[in-house]
Amino acid sequence: MPHHHYDIAILGAGLAGNLLARQLRQTFPHLTVGMFEKRESTSYKVGESTVEVTGDYLIRRLGLETYLTEHHLVKNGLRFFFDQENRQAPLIDMSEIGGIERPFFKSYQLDRSRLETDLQKMNQEDGVDLHLGCAVSDVQLSSNSSPHQFFVGTKTKKTHVQSRWLIDASGRSSILARQENLRTPESHHTLAAVWGRFRNVTNIDKVGPEAFRQRVHGTSRYTSTNHFCYPGYWIWFIALGQNIVSVGIVMERQGSWQDSLRKADGFLNFLKQHHAPWSLLQEAELLDIGSFQHLTYGTRQYFSPNRWGLTGEAAAFTDPFYSPGSDFIALENDLLTNMIRYEEEGKSIPKLHQLIDRSNAYMHFRYEASMRLYRNLYSLFGSYELLKLKWQLDFPSYYHIWLSEFMQDLHLNEEF
Ligand SMILES: Cc1cc2nc3c(=O)[nH]c(=O)nc-3n(C[C@H](O)[C@H](O)[C@H](O)COP(=O)(O)OP(=O)(O)OC[C@H]3O[C@@H](n4cnc5c(N)ncnc54)[C@H](O)[C@@H]3O)c2cc1C
Repeated sequence: MPHHHYDIAILGAGLAGNLLARQLRQTFPHLTVGMFEKRESTSYKVGESTVEVTGDYLIRRLGLETYLTEHHLVKNGLRFFFDQENRQAPLIDMSEIGGIERPFFKSYQLDRSRLETDLQKMNQEDGVDLHLGCAVSDVQLSSNSSPHQFFVGTKTKKTHVQSRWLIDASGRSSILARQENLRTPESHHTLAAVWGRFRNVTNIDKVGPEAFRQRVHGTSRYTSTNHFCYPGYWIWFIALGQNIVSVGIVMERQGSWQDSLRKADGFLNFLKQHHAPWSLLQEAELLDIGSFQHLTYGTRQYFSPNRWGLTGEAAAFTDPFYSPGSDFIALENDLLTNMIRYEEEGKSIPKLHQLIDRSNAYMHFRYEASMRLYRNLYSLFGSYELLKLKWQLDFPSYYHIWLSEFMQDLHLNEEF
């Protein structure tokens, strides 16, 4: 049977796995990295809108600014629109929250399929041993200094792999969380979502009279993540470039959610009931559709002193309202890299264990802090007056606490 051995094995080559592989090759060029992906090629995924922690991670840590500026859209912040009770307000009459200047710190709207294809290629050029079409199974975690073991491939052709570190980046397949019983369900915040890509969506920057465009001082609403907010749910519009826009609905399951929304007819009929968003879709063609029944979950543990860890949706997911998903990936990847650095520097085992304990505690704290922005609040989401107050607290908190901390690398400073 063929056999591979790596210093670090990454299970899954989606967003989290690819970004981590790049970071590890740049930080530890002497370590071997193997990455295993069950699919042969990339496909459309949600998780397109990034915020500034991720922007800083992609630019400063991973050196991707030129690539992102050339191949994806520079984002113009988050934007929120509010309707009348009958959901029939024309777009130009809606109340609006959003920036009127271009953001100082960059973030991006990502075409995920394009990004993952490009990152896989960059990683291979950087020396990552990428195995596509290789589903991972039978993971045996080590609890001593011997390597972790798993198999990749099909039933008929299996390859045995060993690695010193093992990182699960398998997204919602969550190989380790399922095997080790790590998942913690979220019972007080149950959301479902449906989304699709559309071609030929009306460009919101070309709509309405000059006064409507000047309300945002000539900045682009099109490149913002646009949220149309309603009690118990919201609708996103995210431009992906090349005349494609991602549109999705996120809804509390105990509200108006019905499984029929997961089919194209149900999705379009529901959108049709909302005058302003539907007005942008008059000429549009739905290209594909996806959905999840349960968005939010936590994990008992992110990292283990036995040299394994989780990143991205293999670990946890909170709520997409403020697009924090990739911020969690940035934090988890930074903390994992820090742990491997400790080991490489020959720090004592108690020191490494202390770092891992603190890193786990920090991620649990970040998960809970994030959940408090959303839990029990969806019923308020239709109110401009209340969301304006919430924005006035949430946005400065994000910039002054989380972004500022990340940009100074304080999350990697144990004393802090
Ligand atoms: C409705 C919704 C909207 C969202 N919006 C945003 C947003 O605007 N901004 C944001 O930052 N985040 C958003 N997110 C979160 C975002 O989607 C995730 O953070 C991101 O996609 C997670 O990336 P990942 O690499 O962990 O998982 P994935 O991208 O799913 O990658 C996992 C990879 O592992 C592979 N894999 C699975 N099982 C195996 C196996 N056994 N063997 C080998 N490979 C395997 C899969 O094929 C896949 O390629 C949203 C999430 C949802 C649900």
